[in-house]
Formats: sequence, C-alpha cells, structure tokens
Amino acid sequence: MTGFGFSALIYNPYMDNYCLFDTGGDGKVLIHNINQFKVDIQNIKNIIISHSHFDHSGGLSKILAKNPNIKVYVPIGNLNSFQPKYPQNKIIGVENLLRIEKGLISSGQIGKSIREQALIIKKDDDVFLIVGCTHPGLENFILKAKEIGSLIGIIGGFHGFRKYSYLENISIIGACHCTSHTKAIRKRYPNNFKQICVGDSISF
Ligand SMILES: [Zn+2]
Ligand SMILES: [Zn+2]
Repeated sequence: MTGFGFSALIYNPYMDNYCLFDTGGDGKVLIHNINQFKVDIQNIKNIIISHSHFDHSGGLSKILAKNPNIKVYVPIGNLNSFQPKYPQNKIIGVENLLRIEKGLISSGQIGKSIREQALIIKKDDDVFLIVGCTHPGLENFILKAKEIGSLIGIIGGFHGFRKYSYLENISIIGACHCTSHTKAIRKRYPNNFKQICVGDSISF
C-alpha cells in the first residue's frame, strides 16, 4: 500500500530481529505493509526516527500501540516533542554516533534547524546508509557512514542534494522519497542508480 512518507523495515541477522527506520505518515498503511512481509510486530525491537516530520513519524503511535516494548530512537533535539506524546514508551534521544545493537548504528544528530539522524547498517567492513530526507545535506551523512566502514549503498530521500561526486564508488544509489534531482543522479550514475518503490527489498 502506498502513502506519502518513508519507512524501511530492516531484518538484522546478527540479532534475529527487526528494526524500523521511520514509520511513514500513516500507521494503518505501515501495519498493512509490514503484514505483507509476514513479519510479527512483536519481533520489531527498535525504531529509528530520522526526524520529526509527519511523513516519517506519523505511523509511530499505531506501531507502539501494537508493541509497547519497542525502543524508539529520535534525534536528541526532538526528544522533548516525542517524549510527552509517549510517556509509557522508551524514547531515547541520540546525539552522537550510537550503536543501537550489533550491526546497527545511528549517525547521531546532524543539522541545526531540522535535526536528523540516519541509520548505518554494518556488515564486516561494509556499511549501508538509510536516510530520511537529509535536510542537513546528504554529504554530511555520507561522511559519518564512511567513519564506520566502506560505504556500498544508500537508500532514502536525498532532498535537494547536488554534490554528486560524493556518490562516487557507491554501488547502490537508491534515491527516492523527497529526492529533487533524481534524473541528474541517474544520468551521472546509470549503473548504480536503483529505483526504489514501496515493497522493494534489498539484501547485503
Ligand atoms: Zn520526508
Ligand atoms: Zn523531512
């Protein structure tokens, strides 16, 4: 089911559990789509919210109603807006690079006006980056991910990103959601560009 927003469901083989990166704008759509993958919401252990915009955090309340044990990670600058809404739940404000569990690392909060975090998935020396809208500039998230390992792929919203040389040597460029310059990115990296639609899965 489509809807306005972004959400990625991640299976972590190290922990044999799931994590959600962002929750889209509508919890009903999100739950419908999770069910399509036959994933038990009780096996979702962590939710990483990239930033407070509704199209990324709108589905949160419905998921937490189904599984109140999920830990929610938000940029620390947004903690005061999330915590009062979910007094029964574990909401964690993230400031710097943070290991959430084996294989999953938050980039930490980036940006001053719009605070945002991204998720870095690590397998051996390779890392994969999942981003929300990258309002503070995708390049800043790329630089963070490269502190952790060799960056092989990015998925998410690139917003107005135009510093295309930062994408050099990245094998999977899944620019979607709010990306403005999709055509230019595809033209510059035709072999690495990957069209991402609702329901797509990627393994690495
Ligand atoms: Zn967005
Ligand atoms: Zn946004």
